[in-house]
Amino acid sequence: MTGTSATRPTETETGTGTGTETRTGTGTGATVVIGVDLGGTKTAAGVVTLDGRLLHSAHLPTPAASGAAAVLSQAVRLAAAEAAWAGEAGLRPVACGVGSAGTVDARGEVSHATTALPGWRGTPLRAAFTAALDLPVRVLNDVHAWALGEARLGAALHSRTALVVTVGTGIGGALVVDGELVPGRTGTAGALGHLPVPAPGPARRCPCGRTGHLEAYASGPAILARHRELGGAGEDLADVAGLAAAAIPAPSR
Ligand SMILES: [Zn+2]
Repeated sequence: MTGTSATRPTETETGTGTGTETRTGTGTGATVVIGVDLGGTKTAAGVVTLDGRLLHSAHLPTPAASGAAAVLSQAVRLAAAEAAWAGEAGLRPVACGVGSAGTVDARGEVSHATTALPGWRGTPLRAAFTAALDLPVRVLNDVHAWALGEARLGAALHSRTALVVTVGTGIGGALVVDGELVPGRTGTAGALGHLPVPAPGPARRCPCGRTGHLEAYASGPAILARHRELGGAGEDLADVAGLAAAAIPAPSR
């Protein structure tokens, strides 16, 4: 399942933090929420209507190499700027939702970091955003946040149960039942990337350190690596996808 127009922000910025405006039919005084997407590569913040329309957003590269404090303060600044934009537009922010890389505990703190954000563990996300915005703040793992978005506003809107899988640098996933996340005992229910998969040949090493996991075969970097092992000349994953599309006949209907 991939993002839908309801949940995937428009990406027209150039990484300079300049906002893009797509307001349509939202009256002055309307309540909105501030959404933040904090990943290892990019940090984005935006103003979203209660029915899921993105009105304005900005993003910047995540300064992962500068440490957790720099990553957090940039994200808070982006969110505060979006809240200010909303105020100037006559809109009223009533809450802030943050989706972050890493595992997030019930207090809104990062309980397990990812390799993409060194030192991220222990970062008090909810406290920092609450202090800066003076709004109720909820923080979730980014895949969990995406899954809830798909379940409530997107591709899984009319499904009682959904398994949302994200495939990129890694493979993540989350389960939603009756509109609520089912995190499981360890918070990793639905995270398919680190399940062992039957595959021919020697077991491949996964970024998590173990071998034979789905992510070791089917993530973006794994697909590109396999393509090159087989003598493929594709420069990047888009090339591989193009070559694959050209080689596989369209299904007959
Ligand atoms: Zn793994």
